[in-house]
Amino acid sequence: MSTPTSQLPRPADADAPALAIEIRDVHKWYGAHRVLDGIDLTVRPGEVTVIVGPSGSGKSTLLRVINHLEKPQIGHVSLNGELIGVRRHGERLKELSERAILAQRSRIGFVFQNFNLFPHLTVLENVAAAPVATGLLRKPEAQESARTLLGRVGLADKAGAYPRQLSGGQQQRVAIARALALRPGVILFDEPTSALDPELVGEVLAVIKDLATSGTTLVIVTHEIGFAREVADRVVFMDGGRILEQGPPEQVLDRPQHPRTQEFLSKVL
Ligand code: ADP
Ligand code: MG
Repeated sequence: MSTPTSQLPRPADADAPALAIEIRDVHKWYGAHRVLDGIDLTVRPGEVTVIVGPSGSGKSTLLRVINHLEKPQIGHVSLNGELIGVRRHGERLKELSERAILAQRSRIGFVFQNFNLFPHLTVLENVAAAPVATGLLRKPEAQESARTLLGRVGLADKAGAYPRQLSGGQQQRVAIARALALRPGVILFDEPTSALDPELVGEVLAVIKDLATSGTTLVIVTHEIGFAREVADRVVFMDGGRILEQGPPEQVLDRPQHPRTQEFLSKVL
């Protein structure tokens, strides 16, 4: 008789099961300022979604809502059918416990524009810390897994270095390895190459592209339109807290329908 796989410990370097995200009618405002104004978005497991749009259009806020860092006033988000929003049109939905929220957040990797590595920890410790802290792995296994992940992002030889000794591109690759260490079902990237010198952008995009082809669910905010065309299953154009247009890259990027999308692309291309 076979044991259900969900009850077996997963090897540290296994690809986590991809996660589906459903965002329904999400509204988020600060005072009178509507930052998200009725967002509907479905991300299928294994799909690569690239979000583009002008500064201030709500892209980072949307990622933060998916990761529970912000709560929408209206609307809901669900991960694999598990609801994480609280209300829909004033109706109260079940409020998740802090513990359930933390459990969901641990299934979501987040890679920031400014890397956010721990400066006082080595590269290896940066990658191994969270799996130990969350009880996912014991220290020797976490370090073994961290070495494997560092190899995957091309930094096997930097395990003992400190973040300040690395280039921005290397630091961002460590941040990606760190996100992978918790075996997330989805990884959110918020402008992962915006803080990098132009000659370092390619090495980071190459690592993300490797993830994109390995079946991890990815949501990527970026201004790298050429990259979006290469890796995206779907491109989403946001402006003023709304999704104005979405579809396959050849549709949204090459034949945009909305005047705002056309205007935006003419500026960034
Ligand atoms: P983007 O990532 O597309 O540049 P953001 O989601 O960061 O956009 O921000 C959208 C809008 O929301 C901006 O006008 C920003 O100033 C505002 N905003 C974001 N976070 C806050 C906050 N915590 N308090 C008030 N306004 C905010
Ligand atoms: Mg942003």
